[in-house]
Amino acid sequence: MKVAIYTLGCKVNQYESNVIQNEFENNGYEVVNFDEFADAYIINTCTVTAMGDKKSRQILRRAKQINPNSCVCAIGCYAQVSKEDLEKIEEIDIILGTIEKSKTFEIVDKYIKENNHNKIVMSENIMKLMPYCEYNGVAYSEHVRAEIKIQDGCDRFCSYCIIPYARGPVRSRKPEDIKNEVKLLVEKGIKEIVITGIHISSYGKDFKYNKLSDEPYDYKYGLIDLLEELNNIEGIERIRLGSLEPRIITEKFVIRLTKLNKVCNHFHLSLQSGCDETLARMNRKYSTTEFKEIVKLIRNNIKEVALTTDVIVGFPGETEEEFNKTVEFLKEIKFSKMHVFKYSKRKGTPAATMPNQVPEEIKEQRSNILLEMTAQNEKEFASQYIGHEIEVLFENDHEGHTSNYIKVILKEPNEGYINQIIKVIPQKYEEENLIV
Ligand code: SF4
Repeated sequence: MKVAIYTLGCKVNQYESNVIQNEFENNGYEVVNFDEFADAYIINTCTVTAMGDKKSRQILRRAKQINPNSCVCAIGCYAQVSKEDLEKIEEIDIILGTIEKSKTFEIVDKYIKENNHNKIVMSENIMKLMPYCEYNGVAYSEHVRAEIKIQDGCDRFCSYCIIPYARGPVRSRKPEDIKNEVKLLVEKGIKEIVITGIHISSYGKDFKYNKLSDEPYDYKYGLIDLLEELNNIEGIERIRLGSLEPRIITEKFVIRLTKLNKVCNHFHLSLQSGCDETLARMNRKYSTTEFKEIVKLIRNNIKEVALTTDVIVGFPGETEEEFNKTVEFLKEIKFSKMHVFKYSKRKGTPAATMPNQVPEEIKEQRSNILLEMTAQNEKEFASQYIGHEIEVLFENDHEGHTSNYIKVILKEPNEGYINQIIKVIPQKYEEENLIV
């Protein structure tokens, strides 16, 4: 039996696809590329933008063309939020929402073996409180770096974001299960783990109602406690953090962080806008002044730190003046890299019905301004290392990353470097990479 899996969207989806793929493999399935003939096609969908929806639909349709007798299964966020849209697509045999996704192997395997031809739609209400849903297995992939999922869900309800409706409230994974998975990854030779989740800063806040702690809602065991434990696991050399909510960065947090030698000096702090009025409409819970203080705290305490961020342009009501405030703020902070997103209307979110939606061409112009800025910042940040010794963890015989996430390319590939941390001296910066 052959299975092909296509993953759209974020690192959490990638992690979940890896676990699902391993489960198929462990049960005798051969995993093939998505454009090859397979008995089952699994599409792990994304709904974070309208583009994610569109791409999910296209790929679902394409699968049935490759093998008209295959089982086509849509799982994940788009299936959770818009199962009615997917039900209308004839080519889809199985639709599984966020909770049912962890049972993908079981359901698809049964469907194939029983030669079932009835559509299956399972998408339970995600908004109720529930414990973390463990997947069956480890998310091992062939890389030197592996994502590790520590929580699911988000309860911040930023006004533009569909994720809380797709992923539900915060559910944190038990520290023991996380540590065990990390130890298994170490056995497989993984050197770097990426702490992944929908809102990792909320890690632990649900332990009270999920009966892991009797303490009231007070972050008794939170992200920093988990990081301290993971830092002690032998064999792991780097711990990289996924996107952080700026307000988790307090003085106490940073002091504890500086003691963790394996945590990479790279932090992704989602800013979204550098204008207080826009931030308020976005329902983000910090001001630009607070953000600036947080950046100062990190830069004063962590050497050669790379700060990266996400910015949304063209949020409803974003005037020229508001956008210019963002530009000025970004110039001041000078992130080493920015991911720029054009606001995408998501049905069911407050921002979708806000007045003064910004025309697409203005979003495009604003996006181009910030893309130019980030290209310049990336170049400056990386170029400071030309002629200086840096440590690189090589993913293959010619590519690797520094702890502060600069991509390094070897002109002459070296097999002996794979999965090793090697000291090198870059000679130049070219096409967004340092060249050795
Ligand atoms: S913090 Fe805001 S943007 Fe991030 S997942 Fe939660 S609601 Fe969405």
